[in-house]
Amino acid sequence: MTTVRTRIAPSPTGDPHVGTAYIALFNLCFARQHGGQFILRIEDTDQLRSTRESEQQIYDALRWLGIEWDEGPDVGGPHGPYRQSERGAIYRKYSDELVAKGHAFPCFCSAERLEQVRAEQMANKETPRYDGHCMHLDPAEAQRRVAAGESHVVRMKVPSEGVCQVPDMLRGTVEIGWDRMDMQVLMKADGLPTYFLANVVDDHLMGITHVLRGEEWLPSAPKLIKLYEYFGWEQPQLCYMPLLRNPDKSKLSKRKNPTSVTFYERMGFLPQAMLNYIGRMGWSMPDEREKFTLAEMIEHFDINRVSLGGPIFDLEKLSWLNGQWLRELSLEQFAAEVQRWALNPEYLMKIAPHVQQRVETFSQIAPLAGFFFSGALNLDPALFAHKKLDATQVRQVLQLILWKLEALRQWEKERITACITQVAEHLGLKLRDAMPLMFAAITGQASSVSVLDAMEILGPDLTRFRLRNALELLGGASKKETKEWEKLLATLESAPISS
Ligand code: GLU
Repeated sequence: MTTVRTRIAPSPTGDPHVGTAYIALFNLCFARQHGGQFILRIEDTDQLRSTRESEQQIYDALRWLGIEWDEGPDVGGPHGPYRQSERGAIYRKYSDELVAKGHAFPCFCSAERLEQVRAEQMANKETPRYDGHCMHLDPAEAQRRVAAGESHVVRMKVPSEGVCQVPDMLRGTVEIGWDRMDMQVLMKADGLPTYFLANVVDDHLMGITHVLRGEEWLPSAPKLIKLYEYFGWEQPQLCYMPLLRNPDKSKLSKRKNPTSVTFYERMGFLPQAMLNYIGRMGWSMPDEREKFTLAEMIEHFDINRVSLGGPIFDLEKLSWLNGQWLRELSLEQFAAEVQRWALNPEYLMKIAPHVQQRVETFSQIAPLAGFFFSGALNLDPALFAHKKLDATQVRQVLQLILWKLEALRQWEKERITACITQVAEHLGLKLRDAMPLMFAAITGQASSVSVLDAMEILGPDLTRFRLRNALELLGGASKKETKEWEKLLATLESAPISS
């Protein structure tokens, strides 16, 4: 019997997402339950967006939760390299094979031509997709142009009609029409593969037997299935896990809910409780008990108990469960966990430089800088009264800064400052006009230690969370305001950043 092998394949392009931990947990449980292996592969073919910091954060977040993998970039294994950016030659070989077999073709179309085709299709109310222009080139001629170094991508051929039967472990067979599929780009002009080619090639070469991935990938399943067919490879079993949702049922997104695992660590959740809660996303123990460990989940795991109704990720429920876990710790364990959380040398060393010069006794630390050890703050709306700005402008400044910081990828003091400055200047203000609002939202006080440093230390999620809370306390943004301010944001995006 073949050994069950599952994997997660996160792209290291942002904060370590709760959704990644969720998919990882179910893949881990499935593999362990069958005595199999669980692999971590890093899908970093998007050179612009992938970073090593984000990759490290994924490892840290999963390990914090207690999720371990048998093979991966950092632990090695017999099927490496496990980072797609190090597997370029492999993808080229398989792309060439598809072209040689006539299942894929080089495409030389310019961005302008593609845009024009798209515009015409839209005008005719057709689904925009590639029109097959280069598919009809003489193969020898196409090869000559490739050899001459002409810029091109490689596209896969797809049937133009009929339906693809997608076998899903949870839904049975799902039928998806080929008329909705584009001739997917497999290799980009920069010579790197897209998700589709790299994912199929790697799952095959890494011996993956079962792929449990998020439901958002279901619509693209036909392309993957076709690629397995073109290569003549056995397809792994597919399982599309239900999407996590906000309490209002929308897709879990950081604009509504903190989505980074790091946020929950900073908020002082116990990793075991967090993992327990993630395990309850669409799944339940046979006896419906709410509190269980990873070992218990593995012991009783059954993929058929996954229910497809969108599981809701709710901060309040998570907090309740965490409370249950906390109360069952011994006092010694409780004290040790508190220390590990934020009274550890590493965190105190981050705060020390900002506090040491401002206190005369240790007992002044908590009143001055207690916000470093808090989650949501008890904010006083009076703190947001502003000398120059009326209440609407205050909300506008907070909202624009929040949006800018939601998009900020490298969380460093200089970049945070640049975002705030840019918003302030765009509204005809100075950085120092925006600062009282930052102090109020982030520290809950009119003044404290340097708030820009504090934002860097608190990290992106906690900072955004507090800004969001402040904005909500002041009444949020109406639909009309959101529209207007989004326009303003767009003009701001195109404005140069002054440093
Ligand atoms: N790189 C994809 C992601 O970031 C992997 C999806 C899959 O599991 O195939 O979610």
